[in-house]
Amino acid sequence: MIKKKLIIANWKMNPRSSKEAEKLFSNTVKNVSNLKKTEVIICPPFVYLDKLKKISRKFSIGAQNIFWVEKGAYTGEISAEMLDSIGVKYVLLGHSERRALGENNSDINKKIKAALSAGIISIICIGEKERDENHEYFNIIKTQILECLNGISKNLISKIVIAYEPVWSISTTINRKDETPEDFFEMSIFIRKVLADKFGIKTEMPRIIYGGSVNEKNVSDFIKNKGVDGVLVGNASLYPEKFSEIIKICEALEK
Ligand code: PEP
Repeated sequence: MIKKKLIIANWKMNPRSSKEAEKLFSNTVKNVSNLKKTEVIICPPFVYLDKLKKISRKFSIGAQNIFWVEKGAYTGEISAEMLDSIGVKYVLLGHSERRALGENNSDINKKIKAALSAGIISIICIGEKERDENHEYFNIIKTQILECLNGISKNLISKIVIAYEPVWSISTTINRKDETPEDFFEMSIFIRKVLADKFGIKTEMPRIIYGGSVNEKNVSDFIKNKGVDGVLVGNASLYPEKFSEIIKICEALEK
C-alpha cells in the first residue's frame, strides 16, 4: 500500500464570506481529478467547516484550533467532540500565529490529548523564530516536540502529524527567507531522532511535513526526499490554480 502524501491547506482567517469559501473550495476540487497518491486536507475557519464538508469527498476537512475541555463555561471555545460530531477528522494545533497570541507547549499538549480522545488527528506546528549560527534552534525544536508530546502514549503518536514550519520562512513574516529543501530534510531527520529517542525506534512514527511559503514552483523539491510526508500550504492554498497545481505535482511523483 502506498503511503499517501499529505497536502494540507491552512486558509487562516480567509476568505471573507461563506460564499467565497464555497467558491474557493469548489474551484480547487474541480481542478483536480481523483486522488491516488495524496490526501488533501483543507483547514478553513470554523464557520465554513460544515458547509465545505458537504461539497465534495475528494478533500478532507480540518479545523485550525480546539479547546481542551469537552464542554462547559468556556465562552468562544470549540471542543474536539463538537468537531467530531460534524465529521471533522483533523485539527491544526500550535500554529506560530496562535503561539504569537500566547499559546504555549503546555496548552498544545492538552489540546493534542483532547483531539486524541475524540479520535481527531492533530497536525502539530513546530518551528523556530530564527535560525541562529550556534544551532540553538535544534534545541528549540526538541523542546517543542517533547513538551507538546509529554504524557502521550507511544501507541497513539502515529495519530499525530508534525508540521515543521520555521517561522522565518512563512510568507507573511517580514523580511522572510527561503528554507532550503536540504535543510528541511536535515531537520526531518533530527525530528525523527528526537521521536525515536523518546518513543523507541520500533514505534510507528508521526508523519513529518514541511510548511513555509510552499508553492507550485518549490513543492517537488520539498517532498522528493524519503521520509518527507507532505506539505502545509498557507497563502498558495487561497488560489485554486496554484493549489491544484501543487496537488497535481504531488500526484505525479513517482514514489
Ligand atoms: C502557514 O502559515 O501555515 C503557512 C504554511 O503559510 P505560507 O505557506 O503562506 O508561508
